[in-house]
Amino acid sequence: MQLSYCSYLLQFRHPFGVSSNTRLSTLSVFIQLQINNFIGYGEACLPFYLGENEKETIEFFEQAKPLLVPLTTSFDLNDVIQKIDHLSLKHNAAKAAIDMALHEVYGKIHSQTLSQIYHFKEAGPTLTSHTIGIDSEEKLVKKIEEANDFSILKIKAGTTNDKALIETIRRFTNKPLYVDVNQGWTDKHFVLEMLHWMKEQGVILVEQAMPVSQKADMQWVTERSPIPTIADESVKRLSDLKELNGAYSGINIKLMKCTGIVEALKMINYCKQNNIQIMLGCMAESSCATGAMAQLTGFADYVDLDAPLLYTNDPFASVSYKNGKILIPMVNGVGAEPITKLFD
Ligand code: MG
Repeated sequence: MQLSYCSYLLQFRHPFGVSSNTRLSTLSVFIQLQINNFIGYGEACLPFYLGENEKETIEFFEQAKPLLVPLTTSFDLNDVIQKIDHLSLKHNAAKAAIDMALHEVYGKIHSQTLSQIYHFKEAGPTLTSHTIGIDSEEKLVKKIEEANDFSILKIKAGTTNDKALIETIRRFTNKPLYVDVNQGWTDKHFVLEMLHWMKEQGVILVEQAMPVSQKADMQWVTERSPIPTIADESVKRLSDLKELNGAYSGINIKLMKCTGIVEALKMINYCKQNNIQIMLGCMAESSCATGAMAQLTGFADYVDLDAPLLYTNDPFASVSYKNGKILIPMVNGVGAEPITKLFD
């Protein structure tokens, strides 16, 4: 198997603001794995707050090479992914890139879609929320108009005046809202009061209301909350999920956090067995990665897979959107094909 990689800057259509920062572009490193004529692509997206950078990601790909290069078309998918995972305790995005590229190659070799590989029902078109970043009122209005096709909006909150933000949005739309606080609130009594107020405002759920370190406070809040509380930064992998202890009603699973499809399926299985709600989400990543996750939407209570809509230069066309739903191509593997030449 041959492995190649290249770095790529995804340009945001609008400056992308969350509670801690605003960005104009975001870096991904794409990989290509090839055996004979079977080619698979994967993506490691590297927002600075994840703590993974370009240099370390490429070093990890080089570290993984001795495991990948000898593979032939009869490779054991789960065995390889497990060995790659054991190379390091971190590099989750790099592992996710390898995981999705391996699934693509494996699916092509065996003429199987992802749902056929794992024996689950194929996901049809699924409603997804569309994210509105923190912005001025004028720009918020423009973004709400642009999201006209979408029936659920996800609002980035966590500022000092979130009530005013929601009230502004409510002047322009009555659509149900997901609110992502990105760890922005710290007082549990304030959080509970906000959750009650948000319910009155038609908010369906609130994501990562408090910092990761305030797990006990979140447990107190979740026990009393009138709407689901969803963990994002608090849960990366299955091991974090097992430590949740009721601190949240559900979790947001993202490939970049959890190391890929194999781990995501384990987390989904754990959630189903333990009555934990499932949101499938994405980072600021291209449709290469989002398309892979979109294959799993049949398992989700909430789908938040809109990242490919955020850019002017997505080099893949792995998903499309119609009437607020995400559509995936029914092809072997995960369906990631570049529309821009990335590799020689
Ligand atoms: Mg989030």
